[in-house]
Amino acid sequence: MAEAVTTRLRVGIGHDTHRLTPGGPLRLGGIDIPHDHQLVGHSDADALLHAVTDALLGAAGLGDIGELFPDNDPANRGRDSGEMLSEALDRIVEAGYRVVNVDTIVFAEQPKLSRFKPLIEGRLAELLRIESSRVNVKAKTGERVGPIGRQEAITAECVVLLESMT
Ligand code: MG
Repeated sequence: MAEAVTTRLRVGIGHDTHRLTPGGPLRLGGIDIPHDHQLVGHSDADALLHAVTDALLGAAGLGDIGELFPDNDPANRGRDSGEMLSEALDRIVEAGYRVVNVDTIVFAEQPKLSRFKPLIEGRLAELLRIESSRVNVKAKTGERVGPIGRQEAITAECVVLLESMT
């Protein structure tokens, strides 16, 4: 029985960093957060959604976000990362998996994210098509050191657990 359980569950990890540039709002976790800086990248640069997308793909053994959505493809320029997450989720569902739970960490010196956590969790749950009780968002600062602490970048990490439905 133990063997059957271990083969039905698969874990994935995701990590992403984007640079900050002056001008808000801050697009993070699929919502716009009032802030004087925003993330820059080829798509909408939503580091948290990118980390979640990579964790999903990794858990299912389906590669990574760069393979699925190449940054040299003009179709992905300025693209809504929610769309990319949704497309990755479609692949996971087609492969016979469902999301058990998602845990995330956002590393940002500013803004303070505590009051936005429920909103981000709600949006992530909506994108992942699961209840928000299965989604957790944690926020850490960079203790004023390194690129996070100097407010040069925001990093996000995610772990996801998938269950095989086949
Ligand atoms: Mg990214």
